[in-house]
Amino acid sequence: MSAAKKVLIIGTGLGGLATGLRLSSRGYKVEFVEKYHLPGGRLNLIEKDGFSFDMGPSFFSMSYEFKELFEDCGVPNPLELEELNPLYSVYFENRKTPFLIYKNLEKLAREFETVEPNLKSKTEKYLAAAGKLFHDTEDIVIKRNFNSRLDYLMQLTRVPVKHGPKMFRSMWSELEKNFDSQEVKVIFSLVSFFLGSTPFQTPAVYSLLNYTELKHDGYWNVKGGMYKITEEIVKLLKERGATFNFNTEISELEFNNDKVVAARSKDGRTFHADHIVCNGDAASFRGEVLGRKKFSETKLDKLEWTLAPFTIYLGINKKLNSLYHHNYFLGNNFKEYADNIFKTSVSPQKPYYYVNVRSRSNANSAPAGCDSLFILCPVPDLRFKPDWSDAETLADNIIQDMGQRIGVDLKAHIVTKTILTPKDWEQKFNLYKGSGLGLAHGLNQVGGFRPANKDEEFNNLYYVGASTVPGTGLPIVIISSKLATERILKEDGTL
Ligand SMILES: Cc1cc2nc3c(=O)[nH]c(=O)nc-3n(C[C@H](O)[C@H](O)[C@H](O)COP(=O)(O)OP(=O)(O)OC[C@H]3O[C@@H](n4cnc5c(N)ncnc54)[C@H](O)[C@@H]3O)c2cc1C
Repeated sequence: MSAAKKVLIIGTGLGGLATGLRLSSRGYKVEFVEKYHLPGGRLNLIEKDGFSFDMGPSFFSMSYEFKELFEDCGVPNPLELEELNPLYSVYFENRKTPFLIYKNLEKLAREFETVEPNLKSKTEKYLAAAGKLFHDTEDIVIKRNFNSRLDYLMQLTRVPVKHGPKMFRSMWSELEKNFDSQEVKVIFSLVSFFLGSTPFQTPAVYSLLNYTELKHDGYWNVKGGMYKITEEIVKLLKERGATFNFNTEISELEFNNDKVVAARSKDGRTFHADHIVCNGDAASFRGEVLGRKKFSETKLDKLEWTLAPFTIYLGINKKLNSLYHHNYFLGNNFKEYADNIFKTSVSPQKPYYYVNVRSRSNANSAPAGCDSLFILCPVPDLRFKPDWSDAETLADNIIQDMGQRIGVDLKAHIVTKTILTPKDWEQKFNLYKGSGLGLAHGLNQVGGFRPANKDEEFNNLYYVGASTVPGTGLPIVIISSKLATERILKEDGTL
């Protein structure tokens, strides 16, 4: 019986925390080591001058994965979820008012009646196909462990062949087949940025994300802010006796034949456990800590990585009532912008960005009469733009642009401002070259082709989180924790 077995989890991102919770529910003793000074990884918090900001994630889809996690651990769900309605707003350069995106297709069609006639029936048809794809693949390829590439390819043969063409065309061409207006195509393609890519590179299979946002489960906020997720899971873990070591980065593993026997931190401490779970990047950990040639910097640089985050956290002494929880500000040169954004070494002159108003849904995030804003602008990773000495200029450019578009002198109302460049994201959480969502999700880097969640050489070393299977995003990372837990229980003969 595994009751007394000890698990060391390297990293306290959602993947590490959720795995710890699942294992502690089954009697495992859990210890965490974390490089940063707070738990949560990218799901973290910035508190400054009376304002609080979610550092990364600001909403999620597939809320039922959170319910599954707490049910699996035998505890009531401590999170109070609120569905976003409208889901988000989208500002285009040449248009004063934003488009509001609703799950209710009647309302959505009314929003677009001047630019895209018959949107309701077109969207219903598009989402019906995307929904079939989602349900035909969810259990076969998303929620499943693979023991080899062959095992994965065999599973793929179970996906109905009618979905095949979507593997070979881009999301943009799928949208062109279904819709006429540039506005609708651009808006429906924004989900590809959640994968850290653009619709011209993202395969059409990911149209299933439009199904998850517009039909299946919508988008959700956690009452009190996203960091509540981290806080509540950490609370449960502490109640179960889990221990945490912050400011502790693992730089070396000690092994004996096919087992890891200890992990050593940069400051010289040694941690022992029966199982080790790595929540850091599954590719770069194999390269940097385990010294595997297949994951050397030269090899990793040749892979496809997702866009890097350039983020600004603004506390302002004014309420921006025209903004919703979740807003996009786009320009008029979508294709040109998307084609250049990955590899350019200069900051965008006319940036595209996303704005989350945390205080819109969570009043406790800002003093009375104030708003707490999070701005995210996707930029090239550090391979292409290593110099961020122009961070202030880019931030000013974005703040100026946003102020103009909503008719407020934003700069005059700033109480507090924090900027994080891809360099900061790399340094804080070991994100490879500052890439925000890790390895991209092209078909050659998912499933059996993504770094596996069980180590190739060591029998008691596992990986969890966005960098291994199934991929990025909070609910998907929760699925990842289920898959890693299954591996460990199988190894211990309790599943
Ligand atoms: C700006 C931004 C916005 C996002 N917005 C959303 C959103 O709105 N909705 C959504 O669903 N997803 C969003 N995401 C994606 C989401 O944040 C991630 O998919 C998810 O949080 C990843 O969790 P994780 O457990 O894989 O890893 P991480 O959160 O990366 O956690 C890994 C942890 O491991 C630690 N670590 C790494 N190496 C070591 C080591 N050697 N020793 C000790 N500790 C180590 C790191 O410090 C980190 O704390 C966003 C991401 C970013 C960057």
